[in-house]
Amino acid sequence: MTKDMRRRGLLTFLWNQDADDFAPLVAYSNSTSPEETTALKVTEDAYQSSRFYTIRCTRKRLLLFSIVFLSLLVLSSLLTAAIFNHILLNTCTTPSCIAASGALRRSAESSAATLHRINPEIADDRPAPCDDFYEYVCAGWMENTVKRTKGPAEWNAIHETAFRAFDRIEHVLTQIMQSPPLLKELTNSQRDAVNTYQKCMADNVEDAAAVFAYVDKEVGGWITTATNDMRLEDVLVGSYRMNAISVFAIAAVVNPKDNTHAALTIEEAVPILGTVAHYAAPVEYDVDLLLAGKAGNPLLNILKTTGYEVAGMLGMEITKEFEIGLAHAILFDTKLARISPLLHGDSDMQMETTLGDLRQMAGSSFDFYHFLRGFMAVPSSLSTKIIVAPGRAWLYRLLDLLKTYDNPEGQTIIKDYIKFKQFIMLYIHSGKLTVHKSPEGLEILDLLYNGNTDRNVFCLKRVGMSNQLGLVSLLERFFGVRLQENIKYAKEIVEATRKEYIDTLRTSAVVDNRDRPAMIEKAENIRIRLGIPEASRDVMALNRESELMINESMPWTIFFPNVMGNIHFNKMSRVHEPLNPDEWPADTNPFNVNVHYNFESNSILFPILMMLDQFVDSTLPSFYSYGGVGVFVGHEMSHGFDFKGRLHGPTGLDQNLTVGETSRNYEEKQKCFQAQYKNLGEMRTEDAVLSENIADNIAIGVAHKAWRKNNDLGKTLLPGLGLDPEKAFFVAYAQNWCALSKATSGTHSVEKLRVLGPLQNSAAFSEAFSCPVGSFMNPAKKCSLW
Ligand SMILES: [Zn+2]
Repeated sequence: MTKDMRRRGLLTFLWNQDADDFAPLVAYSNSTSPEETTALKVTEDAYQSSRFYTIRCTRKRLLLFSIVFLSLLVLSSLLTAAIFNHILLNTCTTPSCIAASGALRRSAESSAATLHRINPEIADDRPAPCDDFYEYVCAGWMENTVKRTKGPAEWNAIHETAFRAFDRIEHVLTQIMQSPPLLKELTNSQRDAVNTYQKCMADNVEDAAAVFAYVDKEVGGWITTATNDMRLEDVLVGSYRMNAISVFAIAAVVNPKDNTHAALTIEEAVPILGTVAHYAAPVEYDVDLLLAGKAGNPLLNILKTTGYEVAGMLGMEITKEFEIGLAHAILFDTKLARISPLLHGDSDMQMETTLGDLRQMAGSSFDFYHFLRGFMAVPSSLSTKIIVAPGRAWLYRLLDLLKTYDNPEGQTIIKDYIKFKQFIMLYIHSGKLTVHKSPEGLEILDLLYNGNTDRNVFCLKRVGMSNQLGLVSLLERFFGVRLQENIKYAKEIVEATRKEYIDTLRTSAVVDNRDRPAMIEKAENIRIRLGIPEASRDVMALNRESELMINESMPWTIFFPNVMGNIHFNKMSRVHEPLNPDEWPADTNPFNVNVHYNFESNSILFPILMMLDQFVDSTLPSFYSYGGVGVFVGHEMSHGFDFKGRLHGPTGLDQNLTVGETSRNYEEKQKCFQAQYKNLGEMRTEDAVLSENIADNIAIGVAHKAWRKNNDLGKTLLPGLGLDPEKAFFVAYAQNWCALSKATSGTHSVEKLRVLGPLQNSAAFSEAFSCPVGSFMNPAKKCSLW
């Protein structure tokens, strides 16, 4: 029973007591028959006229008076206590509060604490909030979460949320697939999305050889069977057509100098092992050493095994010539990965050049003009501008590398490398063509890229890439009202947080007055988009997506890469047209579980999955969603003002945002965070890592302030948890960062630090949990930015 129910019960009992005093009289008159009433009436009349009656009546009046007086006294003191109680310690028992308790408990409660409630003999060994808030919130989650990925992929509350959302989407798709009338009602692009999903789910080819042989023919053979008359540039364009990006990536992305248009942009291609970090170990570039497994980087053995597996599927004979060809292809992958700016500590940012200049710089080693003509419906001129995103130093290293292969043998090696990567990507896109007991080559790569076992999740992610708009419009239709309400609520939160952020910029002493107007303007300009790309309601855009779904009779393994290739080519061919402002930038996907800030367009995107579960819920008290979406938006807005964001002006265009002392003040302030996070175990000191942590710190501050103005619970407690809303806000925040993995992901610190760092600096947190100054969660020295 809740306190509230207990109190109501007590009041009812009191009133009953009062009523009971008069019960005999009332009861009598109601329960007696007419004859009895008459008899009683006669006796009563005689009794009332006696003297004895008068005395008794006086006594009875006195007694009644005392009873009423005492009752009123008791009642009034009880009412006072109740009112007091209501103000100070009331527990909220609305369905919304009960649901909020459940949602917090799902992640926050440790199993030890649960057992303690069932059997108080068992110790509640959950750490105290002021000692380690991450453990306090996440210990239970870590014990209870069910990991749904295998292999090295990480697992955290965000992944868990994504999988929950995937389950719900799968449910919708299955319902549609089983109901012909429902299917009939869909629009073309919605039906395309269902078809792609169905195709992916149905395809379960055990033997990849047929598919590989098909591609083998398309790419003109591999290694010893390669026909050498194809130009390197054409082989590369061909692999792009099947969505395998090697040597370098080229795409049409928002032009930083004019964000109404796209620009052709060259970027690094992802190396075969997925990340450049895997190539950090120095390598002996010797074919024999590599074949003997002694090249220096043991991970290269995965690629060697992969090569043999592909050859096996193609029915190739393993000859010495093949082995040498394979080793050269692997060493090229290594050399390419090792020119990455990440391994050279380059400080230069992207450069702009022209197609003509690029062509001239590369000389005979690679014809960029010929290469680009393979993509473009509208032929490019030599003056076409090209942005080299990883910068000048990287470009020079790439051109130098290509020049060392500028001879027939070298060109063959690069071509073999491109095809090798294409086979691997086909395998990865297929999901599960073959299954071995202990993963080797290809299966290790599959784990590295896909990281999960659930075919439905694999397929949903793929449909999210190939049929982005169709799937979104389908979900909008089927999740209807609930999704709309969450999005509407998220919009309110986002605007309340933005307002708080702007107020902070308006008053901050860190901001130089000369910079203040531009910074406020930038914050006001940020376009914040929630869940649904506007283009998914645009018939033209939906039709265009449908047109890219060709050749439905193709097996999945070829169908999907083809569709993705089409999407890429389509974007490239429209590079000279104005951008559709309602299309989401190419580097974002509504099905990622990762909020994204785009520097060039000064926009923040919340993918649809984040509107379905965990981070915003319009039916729960406000602390819950401010601790989710509110914090996320505060974080992303902060990127607009970090070391990189300051290079983009108030609309996102390439220009310095600050001219005054703001940057210097900012850098001075960030030293405090640098020291704090080093103490917490973050050894990386790059600006990119620091800016993520600073963004977390700003975010919790502005989201909390915005929430306080929109706190819809007052001071009431949450049922069953004893948390007031102030405490609950921080629990809701922290539970979004619970994680099993202890590894860093990209430039972010480990999840634990994303809880500890910002909360150690938050005075509001220490106040909420009454953490003594000097306790771990409330150090005397606090860092702040704005
Ligand atoms: Zn970030």
